[in-house]
Amino acid sequence: MSTDPRYKSHAWRQTRKAVLARDRHECQVKLEGCTKVAKHVDHITPVADGGSFFLHSNLRASCGHCNVSLRNQRIAELARQARQGSDPNLRPQGNYYKPDPTWTAFGIADDGSYYPSSGIW
Ligand SMILES: [Zn+2]
Repeated sequence: MSTDPRYKSHAWRQTRKAVLARDRHECQVKLEGCTKVAKHVDHITPVADGGSFFLHSNLRASCGHCNVSLRNQRIAELARQARQGSDPNLRPQGNYYKPDPTWTAFGIADDGSYYPSSGIW
């Protein structure tokens, strides 16, 4: 997740730059609504699922739109897993993500469902 301290490392900045250059700053995710201009780098296999953090073959350039869409898909998947009673550590933490664009922030109830809340997004 974005709280991983490795995102702040010099090695990550270098890796990110190299992957963006390799993909010519062109989004490789290409979901519906893709803006094509990549400013983010996405882990193809999420690090939490054992994907390599720094391996270029596990990385691809991503536009902001696709980056957020993938993140929301991932959160929905984690919430689903949490509801099914698998590893509670997989449950998303805090108010980092908002599943509904009209919500300014949200919390996650004990049963894994989302609820809108006020606060800093
Ligand atoms: Zn895109």
